[in-house]
Amino acid sequence: MTVLVASDLDRTLIYSRAAAGVPLSELVCVEESDGVPRSFVTRPAAAGYARLVMAAAVVPVTTRSPDQFARVRLPGPAPAHAVVANGGILLVDGVPDDRWARRVRRRLAGAASLATAHAHLVSACAPSFTRSVRTVADLFTYALVHREALPSDLVPGLDSWAASRGWRVSLQGRKLYLVPQALRKSEAVAEIAARLGARTILAAGDALLDADLLVTADRAIRPAHGELHERGWTAPSVERTVASGARAGEEIVAWFARLCAAEMRAQRSL
Ligand SMILES: [Mg+2]
Repeated sequence: MTVLVASDLDRTLIYSRAAAGVPLSELVCVEESDGVPRSFVTRPAAAGYARLVMAAAVVPVTTRSPDQFARVRLPGPAPAHAVVANGGILLVDGVPDDRWARRVRRRLAGAASLATAHAHLVSACAPSFTRSVRTVADLFTYALVHREALPSDLVPGLDSWAASRGWRVSLQGRKLYLVPQALRKSEAVAEIAARLGARTILAAGDALLDADLLVTADRAIRPAHGELHERGWTAPSVERTVASGARAGEEIVAWFARLCAAEMRAQRSL
């Protein structure tokens, strides 16, 4: 009977103050770092999320590192399963799953190494528009960039470098990612669905790194902002919110709740 709700976090469920587009008085803080509030949801989204986790298996699915993910405190009990590092790490009750880690290592064997990709990103990202270049969990690399100063040929150039080496590019806000093609959110979510015996997967996400998750889910939704929206990305099974910013996050939580309720009714009637 289980419905699995797989949702990206940043700019899908949770928002920086700048990305939220909603007055601070209408927001609930869900992440602090160094004592500073970093991420928010609207009050209706917080209340809706607390109800949703009681009705479905809700799995946060993020490109964040385990440490970055651990800072996020959404309402309700901590999730039993979470996907971090873009599918590279599957957390079960907060602990990395060894069996999944071994499978990921085998899948990445055919691509260029992380050291090669990281060195290429460092060489491509000039100091004039780059704050830093980091690696995550020995799996992938990203640069923190000044987006308004990016050369227009940077992403296309990285795209063609990556495509022939088993890697891919994603630009999300101030983060420019190089991620192995084999590192997919959808595959980690499929593994959790198999373990839980979930019959239905609902998904949400805003970025190119979410596209595989959206198209493999039974039903999915993306916000009317973000990388997929900027590219005009669509797929037959993927809906789009009316709102943008944190109000889109609120709409996505309500959409999950509505579809979960309908799915549970349908499964009961079988
Ligand atoms: Mg996102």
